[in-house]
Amino acid sequence: MAKQVRVRFAPSPTGYLHLGSARTAIFNWLYARHTGGKFILRIEDTDRERSKKEYLDEILEDLKWMGIEWDEGPFAQSEKMDVYRKKAEAILKKDLAYREGNAIIYKVEKSKIIKISDLIHGEIQFNTDEIKDQVLIKSDGSPAYNFACVVDDSEMEITHIIRGDDHISNTPKQIMLYEALSLKPPHFAHMPLMMGKDGAKLSKRHGGVAVFEYKNEGFLPEALANYLILLGWSPGGDREIIGLKEAAEKFDIKDINNVQVTFDIDKLRWINGEYIRSKTASELFPKIKEKLIKEKYVDDTLNKDHLLNIIELYKTRFKTFDEFLRLTECFFRDNYSVDDKAYKKHLENKESKKRIGEFAEKLKLLNEFSAPKIEEICRQLADSQKVKASKIIHPTRVAISGLTVGAGLFEIMEVLGKAKVIVRLEKAVSNN
Ligand code: GLU
Repeated sequence: MAKQVRVRFAPSPTGYLHLGSARTAIFNWLYARHTGGKFILRIEDTDRERSKKEYLDEILEDLKWMGIEWDEGPFAQSEKMDVYRKKAEAILKKDLAYREGNAIIYKVEKSKIIKISDLIHGEIQFNTDEIKDQVLIKSDGSPAYNFACVVDDSEMEITHIIRGDDHISNTPKQIMLYEALSLKPPHFAHMPLMMGKDGAKLSKRHGGVAVFEYKNEGFLPEALANYLILLGWSPGGDREIIGLKEAAEKFDIKDINNVQVTFDIDKLRWINGEYIRSKTASELFPKIKEKLIKEKYVDDTLNKDHLLNIIELYKTRFKTFDEFLRLTECFFRDNYSVDDKAYKKHLENKESKKRIGEFAEKLKLLNEFSAPKIEEICRQLADSQKVKASKIIHPTRVAISGLTVGAGLFEIMEVLGKAKVIVRLEKAVSNN
């Protein structure tokens, strides 16, 4: 029987969970689930100065938020300092290392070729002439990353190391240390890195680098996970919407592309929009309510049915919750923002004002303030004035919502309600 697959994700809590690391975690998780193996979480916190509990807490929370649960761990390296020291001393005893003060340093044998058969890149060769002697234990007693990594990966019986290309240069060093400990190295799979659209390292200006930033902005976890899955892997065909569970069924390491991937925030937004569309207004309600309260659009006393109506009206029109807020401000605030250009184009002239003034007068007489009735009045008014209905619709939309985009005007009016609509139209007429 083949050995059970054991993979690990090994974040350093010296910063928040980066999108690139989240993608590494997801690919490891997919492989574990695909093979019926184990996904292990290891915290590489030997840098006591830079490791922070708040980062660790957020990393764990973000993984869970995306639906990535681990089978074993989290194990902290900081709790195993004596183990690394003992292993280093064993290498020292074999005369493969030397001491320099308190530090223990591995002697690299010169002019040797080290081969890696990487599961994504194929064979990669390194000459040890290019590798300096390797610190195993630093003079402060803490292990160097490459050494702790090897000790842990072997003790945890990791079978496959799936990580970013930025670790390729560490791999020959780690292979030497496996040899020094008389251990067989695991399989390696280095994934091409994720870059910004301009080819530069992913940074704030590409739309945020940390998972929590997307979480706070209101992206759906399944949309972010779906997007990251597609960066270097594809379920086949031109399929793009796929959940973690189904991706796990189809995923294999050998199908990871050997090309650099580009982070594209618009694509992520699009996927998020697809997930939003697939949910019901009630499913979206709690998150949207939370967001509205946070942004002070509403307080706790908000009317649930009213909000459900608004969500229903806009569900196919927003890709992120922030966009929802921008589009629907007029439902929650009387001093909603007004698009200046739209105001100048559609409202700043006498004819428009006159027309929406007359529209308001007619609407006042309406008992059933429903979208079809409002539309009927609008069309009749346009006919009697021999103008296109758009001559009433555009200025009305700007007057009551401040925008030129959004849901259907008559539906917006119905949901806003007669009183608000009339007040806003009259205010627009009297504005200079
Ligand atoms: N702590 C390392 C990192 O966050 C892990 C590297 C590895 O997966 O070996 O980059």
